[in-house]
Amino acid sequence: MTEADGYGVAREAIVDRGAIEHNVRTLRAVTRTHEFIAVVKADGYGHGAITAARGALAGGATRIGVADVAEAIALRQAGIGAPIVAWLHAPDTDFRPALADGVEIGVSGVDQLRRVVAHASGSAPVVHLKFETGLGRNGAAPGEWAALLGEAARLEREDRVRVDGLFSHLSGASREDDLAQLGLFEEALGGAAEAGLSPRIRHLAATAAAFDVPEARLDAVRVGLGIYGLSPFDDRSAAELGLRPAMTLRVPIAAVRRVQAGQGASYGYTYRAERDTTFALVPLGYADGVPRQASNAGPVRIRGERFRVAGRVAMDQFVVDVGDTEVAPGDQAVLFGDPLRGAPSAAEWGDAAGTINYEIVTRIGPRVRRVVVE
Ligand SMILES: *Cc1c(COP(=O)(O)O)cnc(C)c1O
Repeated sequence: MTEADGYGVAREAIVDRGAIEHNVRTLRAVTRTHEFIAVVKADGYGHGAITAARGALAGGATRIGVADVAEAIALRQAGIGAPIVAWLHAPDTDFRPALADGVEIGVSGVDQLRRVVAHASGSAPVVHLKFETGLGRNGAAPGEWAALLGEAARLEREDRVRVDGLFSHLSGASREDDLAQLGLFEEALGGAAEAGLSPRIRHLAATAAAFDVPEARLDAVRVGLGIYGLSPFDDRSAAELGLRPAMTLRVPIAAVRRVQAGQGASYGYTYRAERDTTFALVPLGYADGVPRQASNAGPVRIRGERFRVAGRVAMDQFVVDVGDTEVAPGDQAVLFGDPLRGAPSAAEWGDAAGTINYEIVTRIGPRVRRVVVE
């Protein structure tokens, strides 16, 4: 017996696969790149990786991007046959199962390239070579790039590897910084051509640059946040970008109580009712991804009206002061969803918690059931 059988609290993240499809179509129309890599790491930013991949492919994505090979294999096991690239690896990664599944590997150095080639059986593994242009994460450093290109070219001539992609990742620190990284990337591409490599896709831009740095779109964009209908910008909403938020987080109110002025709400009484009022109990807490930092701040929509968290968010629940609004147990409390339909946005929760919408959706906990709708 689980919540899915209808016994427990109906904590639901409703995921609109049609919205993901729409967002990819919109992004494709904006970016007009030859290829489109839909990023579904971290369980599709909390939306469900398989759902996200299916929606994205239906909307015209040509490849799927994930962080590590285990995520790629899980997609293969779910029947996703499209090209998948994984780019973040532990030093002792066993690439064999991923290569057997035809997963493409993002490679950041000579040792990693040799390891991938050593783990191949059958056809030559497809790799995307990553060049570090300034983010300070992975990717071959400028001083290692020539060696990586040389080794890749040698192995490619021997049919032991196929270099399909070259890529890097932007900081988004400023337009100037991104353009400086693009400049370095272009030099690195020149080096690859000199080494005799002619990869089919050069990719650099994630969601923010896909919109704002057209020069960085190249052959493919590598978009995560945008496909889920969320905006990476402080000054532009998803709607302004033509995107539809794919996730709605909601739960039925567990209890309602009439309280007197002075009544405290939740641990530490950081909120007290200023007058006689009604407290509604929302059975979602930080174990479900509702940030405790959003105590006394996070927005909630109930019966078409908007309220705020009253007092601290606890592990399983929080209180909302609904004043004199008629609220009954079982009424849906919507934490976030599509603002065009009246819901608060994930970005508002990010603001309330001092974080970003990315973190709000990816941290939804395991007790919350993902309900896929079209
Ligand atoms: C997560 C990630 C992306 C997607 O970033 P968004 O801002 O969500 O579009 C793209 N490329 C790499 C290397 C990533 O790690």
